[in-house]
Amino acid sequence: MDCRTTKAFDHFLAGLGPEAREEALRVLAGEVRDLRALPPGAERAREVHRRVDAAQARFAALRPDVAGQVRCSRGCSHCCRLWVGVTRDEAELLCASEVRPDPGRLEAQRFWTSPSDFIGKPREEASCVFLGPDGACAVYRDRPAICRAVLVASDPEFCRGGDLATRITAVINPYAEVVVSAALTLDAEADPPPPAGRHLAHALGRGRGNSPEPPPPGF
Ligand code: SF4
Repeated sequence: MDCRTTKAFDHFLAGLGPEAREEALRVLAGEVRDLRALPPGAERAREVHRRVDAAQARFAALRPDVAGQVRCSRGCSHCCRLWVGVTRDEAELLCASEVRPDPGRLEAQRFWTSPSDFIGKPREEASCVFLGPDGACAVYRDRPAICRAVLVASDPEFCRGGDLATRITAVINPYAEVVVSAALTLDAEADPPPPAGRHLAHALGRGRGNSPEPPPPGF
């Protein structure tokens, strides 16, 4: 089975021997089959979120030494000012939320097509459309799987500069990355050819069915 994988899961796989890698991919294929059996939409997004949260709890129980180093906390929102991917299921879930996205950011971001579009933009403009003025997520209960999976153990100030290459220490939880990768795989199957990614603003527009313009190239 061809599966889409997150960069973090790719990194994890690269450190495995052939047998362990095969086993990890078998687990991923099983996760895809499980999720595919569910009807698409907001409820499936919720199930994905439950699974990612359970994976985080499992990781914390198995590796308290590593999980205890995680520095992410409410109000620490540097990673909410980068490209954020959501699936169609998640777009549906977020569109049903009573929380409205920031209209100015939504308008500014609707035609940004790649992570590089977010780099170099003013922090306010590049912030997630659901990031509140207090630096907290306004849709925390329904935040995307990718937001649930990201864990950082280095000084949050390093995240401010987006210094991915040298100073940010990401904690990879393979159990969570399997679930996120399975959700991405299903999303790609839904509308071939699969987009490399999509940012939150465009997904929101499409989820509401009120995006007046066609999606930009690359979606
Ligand atoms: S959905 Fe919430 S956690 Fe995710 S990027 Fe937006 S503000 Fe941050």
